[in-house]
Amino acid sequence: MIDERALCERFPVEWADLMWGLDNGSSASAGDRKVLVSAGIRICEKCPVRAECLADAIVRREQVGIRGGLPLRARRRLRCMASDGGVDMSDGGTKALHGLTRWLKSHQELIEAARDAETADRQAKRRRQRRKERAGMERCVREGFRPTKPPLDRQGELDI
Ligand code: SF4
Repeated sequence: MIDERALCERFPVEWADLMWGLDNGSSASAGDRKVLVSAGIRICEKCPVRAECLADAIVRREQVGIRGGLPLRARRRLRCMASDGGVDMSDGGTKALHGLTRWLKSHQELIEAARDAETADRQAKRRRQRRKERAGMERCVREGFRPTKPPLDRQGELDI
């Protein structure tokens, strides 16, 4: 989004790409990227054109980066919330953009709600993944790291 009031426009491009998540091939470590993206999100929260920026990304279905402090999944969630709230985005153009911007300005708390819900989903997914890994490790330990036999009805499939 090009707007002279946009806070991200004040950063050198290589920094902005890291902070708002557009950089895929940088040599920055995962830890550094995480810190920079978090800083980018905080800056978005103070940006005077946050609602316009978010509306633009949502209406255009922008697939990458952080916009208005929200990653893609949270933007999708916010789009659904806006749609449920009666915002008509069917034209995908100026009317949708203006309607959604107005709605976002009067429902700022839902921007944070969409992000919090997305964060909670992500954390729950990580917890499930960790539980699965732990269960796998425990099974390996129980079985003495021996490869398990395939079930009887599938043993023939492996005899190639
Ligand atoms: S909300 Fe964030 S990404 Fe959007 S214009 Fe402002 S600083 Fe840039």
